[in-house]
Amino acid sequence: MVKRLMKVATAALILVLVFSSAAYAALQPGGPSTNGNTNINSTLSYTEVVKILEEIESSSKGKVEVSTLDQYGKSEQGRSIYVAKVGTGPQKIWIQAQIHGNEKLVTEAALQLLKTYAKSGDKDVETVLKEATLYFIPMYNPDGAEMNIRHTKLAESGKLIDLNRDWTLNGFEAVESEVVYAYWAAVKPDFAIDLHHQGLKQVYGTNESTSFSLGISLAPDGPTLPGTGYNDITKQMMAYVYDDLKDYGFTHIDRYQVWIDREKGTAYDIDIKGGVVSAMMMGLNYKNLNPENHSHPAVFFETKGNSTDGSLGQKSNGYLTKQNYLALKSLVHGFVTGEVEEVNPEDWYNIPYYPLAGYMTDYNGIVPVGSDSGY
Ligand SMILES: [Zn+2]
Repeated sequence: MVKRLMKVATAALILVLVFSSAAYAALQPGGPSTNGNTNINSTLSYTEVVKILEEIESSSKGKVEVSTLDQYGKSEQGRSIYVAKVGTGPQKIWIQAQIHGNEKLVTEAALQLLKTYAKSGDKDVETVLKEATLYFIPMYNPDGAEMNIRHTKLAESGKLIDLNRDWTLNGFEAVESEVVYAYWAAVKPDFAIDLHHQGLKQVYGTNESTSFSLGISLAPDGPTLPGTGYNDITKQMMAYVYDDLKDYGFTHIDRYQVWIDREKGTAYDIDIKGGVVSAMMMGLNYKNLNPENHSHPAVFFETKGNSTDGSLGQKSNGYLTKQNYLALKSLVHGFVTGEVEEVNPEDWYNIPYYPLAGYMTDYNGIVPVGSDSGY
């Protein structure tokens, strides 16, 4: 049995070794092809996002309220950061998209969900709006979006800043971080979802190209998350989404892992404290705006491909957006109704993943599994 397993492992290793973007083309695609460059004109620009938000608001009969965060500041290049609020219930849910400016389709998915809440009279939607208030930030990084790059650029120095590494104990570098953080500290959400895109990847042990990855930015059962008290609830959330979506269409879902060691056939989970959703779970108090250290569980989704490396072709855009939309809608409903809490946290390990070698951190480099150097 062990020998057989070794053989399988060796075969998998060879497969992984010869992997290149050409090899990815031979995989079960997980929906329409993502080959080729996305025409940026086919994704939403900042101006279009603002226009769509205003349309949703005006046709929502008072259900959706759109505003800017100008009271806290504007982006480095002077753009307003927009938010939309919908629902009347006490549970506060935070949904943010495009903190990385070259991760486009997630904005579309967030807007589609907002539209559903604005218009649909479905029982499920009514339940969510009665039990919760949702705060959408469909384009966290408008400057990066307009430049079609991951980062924002500091107005004074021109330095590029990854906004998803900028909520740190040592201070914030970009004004976008200060603006969104101040709003977050005022809202005090109960739960957050952060939407991203990732590069091409293969579901472990299969020939399927990953279309969607489920992530927690402080690794479950890792060095940091158990200490926040959100170790179980975040695992339950992701297991809930996995169960709900795994049989949908061409969806190939796996666990987000930040780096795959193709030679060893292992991978590293992410464990970063300066990531926005990590800081939310750790109750970051910056400039004394969050003196009670309010915190809450937070997770992220990764959709296949992005718009700068030619891995997000036009043909798949509708499909990838739909998958994101459904996962978002599912998780919000599961959280609001309490269904998420009925999931066995250990079902997290049913989500396909590469054998774990360690954690990639932003505070102690790479921390191998089983080592206590990360604590
Ligand atoms: Zn991202």
